[in-house]
Amino acid sequence: MFISKLFIPITKDLPAEAKIKSHQLMLRTGMIKQSSAGIYSWLPLGFKVMKKIEQIVREEQNSIGAQEMLMPTIQSSEIWKESGRYDDYGEEMLRIKDRQGRELLYGPTNEELITDVFRSSVKSYKSLPQLLYHIQWKFRDEIRPRFGVMRCKEFYMKDAYSFDLSDEEAKKSYNKMFYSYLKTFDKLDLKAIPMAADTGPIGGDLSHEFVILAETGESDIYADKNIFKIDPNKYKLEDGSLQKMREDYSKIYAATDEKYKKEDFEKSVKKEDQIITKGIEVGHIFYFSDKYSKPMNCLIDDKSGKKTSVKMGSYGIGVSRLVGAIIEAKYNNEIMKWPKTVAPFDIVIIPSISKNNKENLEKAEKVYNELKKQNIDVLLDDVDENMSNKFKKHDLIGVPYQIIIGSKSDGDSFEFKELNEKSEILSLDNIKLKLKS
Ligand code: ATP
Ligand code: MG
Repeated sequence: MFISKLFIPITKDLPAEAKIKSHQLMLRTGMIKQSSAGIYSWLPLGFKVMKKIEQIVREEQNSIGAQEMLMPTIQSSEIWKESGRYDDYGEEMLRIKDRQGRELLYGPTNEELITDVFRSSVKSYKSLPQLLYHIQWKFRDEIRPRFGVMRCKEFYMKDAYSFDLSDEEAKKSYNKMFYSYLKTFDKLDLKAIPMAADTGPIGGDLSHEFVILAETGESDIYADKNIFKIDPNKYKLEDGSLQKMREDYSKIYAATDEKYKKEDFEKSVKKEDQIITKGIEVGHIFYFSDKYSKPMNCLIDDKSGKKTSVKMGSYGIGVSRLVGAIIEAKYNNEIMKWPKTVAPFDIVIIPSISKNNKENLEKAEKVYNELKKQNIDVLLDDVDENMSNKFKKHDLIGVPYQIIIGSKSDGDSFEFKELNEKSEILSLDNIKLKLKS
């Protein structure tokens, strides 16, 4: 893509409510545009990053055997009346009526709808376990939407649901999701800490929030820094290994303000290992047993032919929130650098161009075509603008690699640079090799 053709409305004017870096940067680089309070359009650059995040989330869901489907955004109020949440959910739920006066709502989450899908088709334990997920827009009429895409009214979420015969079996599904979350955040180059969360009246230890550390987060975090030493990649997708993984994590202190107790924290974590900071919740997993299946009469025959309520859990990841969360975690010294797995482009070519000298631009186009042939996603900055402005712009856009075509490049060698690192002179073949690896 040539930058002159890209729809990327870079702007310097920021609204007063853009207080945190990710919000400012996403507006400045034209990743999003606010449409009304807490509701955004995703412009090409932002959309591209979000789609890459979505794809990583999807691959890691598929890899534990979860099956993708798609439920609608608009739901009938009937099923929410069955579960008892139609009244409980309160003002965060956007309620609407169709022309026949039927009560509908824009889904804030999908427990009821998936239970309805499940009860109409599965009748026997023989079809269990099942893990189903979708990636779909949600709407919550948040009282105070803020921080750009971090707390919106309309946001994009991956939500998964597990169905099992017993609490014991359900725990295995829970562990698989826990594992897939760790791997997902690892691929996104984020250090997400699983933190024990409140289970409310359900009880047990099967609820975790996945939180990344960032000063601008909304939750207070208390953790032992040794938790970062656990490598999720050393566990196998097998019940015994996954149970061991859960035990390894549960031995190390990590809690949000909801569960934090000063005495426990100070007793179990050495002073020099204590992390006390803020965090952003990027995912939440929760086992709630028959909380929805019981009132909604979602029954299956167990091995003895007796009817029993199916045991369920739900598992969310904030896909659109993650775009902002990654920026909060990575932005440093006026420079944005996307993890390679989600960067909007693999590399940007920055030629020094002036009215009288188009030679560098011609060279740049040749390099561009060569890289394109290798399926490398290249951005070419073909605008006639001084180099220091160009560099500033690309520090903000955050494409992780640059080829600079100016006085230092000669023949088939070019100045190559990883963003925020020193540059080196490399041949085009070596650049290709570097990018491929
Ligand atoms: P929070 O405490 O941040 O409101 P929640 O407990 O309401 O989150 P869940 O219902 O568990 O969130 O939703 C799953 C994930 O969806 C969250 O972990 C978060 O990443 C994302 N999410 C929730 N609410 C929003 C929102 N208003 N805007 C953007 N993302 C959100
Ligand atoms: Mg909420």
